Amino acid sequence: MCGGGCRHARAAANDEARTRASPPSSVAFGLVVDFVSRIPRAAVPVVALLAGALPGAAQDRAGAERYRALRHAMVAEQIAAEGVTDTATLGAIRTVPRHEFVPADLRDRAYGDHPLPIGLGQTISQPYVVAYMTELIRPRPGMKVLEVGTGSGYQAAVLSEIGCAVFTVEIFEALAAGARERLARLGYGAVRVRHGDGHFGWPEGAPFDAILVTAAAGYVPPALIAQLKPGGRLVIPVGGVYGVQHLILVEKQADGTVRTRQLLPVRFVPLLSGLR
Ligand code: SAH
Repeated sequence: MCGGGCRHARAAANDEARTRASPPSSVAFGLVVDFVSRIPRAAVPVVALLAGALPGAAQDRAGAERYRALRHAMVAEQIAAEGVTDTATLGAIRTVPRHEFVPADLRDRAYGDHPLPIGLGQTISQPYVVAYMTELIRPRPGMKVLEVGTGSGYQAAVLSEIGCAVFTVEIFEALAAGARERLARLGYGAVRVRHGDGHFGWPEGAPFDAILVTAAAGYVPPALIAQLKPGGRLVIPVGGVYGVQHLILVEKQADGTVRTRQLLPVRFVPLLSGLR
């Protein structure tokens, strides 16, 4: 499966992350909170039942609100609690509607702590792994980022939500077309999606501040190192298809040499060759 991370025990979430995950202070909204708290407890299930009978637009709103709550819980319990602290990353993952990036029959599992199939033998990565990889590149608005392995488009949307200029390459034409349509529909039309073999990067878009590879390679493709800016960061799972893989962080120094660090053990689908 893709993006199933075998987590290292990491430091507990810092105070900042914990604060963001908790409900806002009620001081400024004392009256509102007081009013809500006076609704008899028994009324709540009735309200919940009624939600199922709401017409079109109201039901959509109730659904969106339910997914938003699931997303916030996912960030608090699976991501911040596991040590991801970058506020840009956490904010983007709280915002991007992950359920829109999975097949319709799997929507209710979109916020679970696991990867999910997206067709053609491919998967959308586990939320924690997406967050961990995003944090590793120290994403900031305006950065130019290449992703290899578009898949559903979810990782690309997270980077775009942060304000990065995103270039993403996918080897399956059908997945590239699906992701392009989905990203445009959800307001991430600025993401550039290309059907191609990511071993060769995106020469016309280079150089990149950061490169994320979301499929496991046997080695770090030289073209990707060449297309990285000095000072840039490349994150890639390296290892056998069925064997041990590790996320590798490659940092290009100002003088063009690279420093490599081995991070989490992970499990990703393989980086393929030959267009499909
Ligand atoms: N980042 C994706 C999930 C990636 S799964 C998401 O957010 O949904 C890995 C993806 O890499 C698959 O879609 C697979 O088809 C693609 N892939 C595999 N080999 C590739 C290659 N050489 N070039 C580009 N994409 C590739």
